[in-house]
Amino acid sequence: MTTPSSANPADQLRAAAVAFIAAQPGGPQRLLAQHTADATGRCRGCTTPGYGTAHGQWPCTPVLLARAAAQDAS
Ligand SMILES: [Zn+2]
Repeated sequence: MTTPSSANPADQLRAAAVAFIAAQPGGPQRLLAQHTADATGRCRGCTTPGYGTAHGQWPCTPVLLARAAAQDAS
């Protein structure tokens, strides 16, 4: 894994999240299995709290982070 040279806090937070996901056994694959698009293009994994209905636009942030983690692992 490469460490970004940027001191941007958002970049550092993103890198930490990607590293955390990559460190979990099957982490990226588990996230990608949970966060899939429904027929309207919303994420089944990012639901409205208290309702359980698909909420977030897909691909959501967890999918983007999991894709980056999967790339780091390969
Ligand atoms: Zn999601």
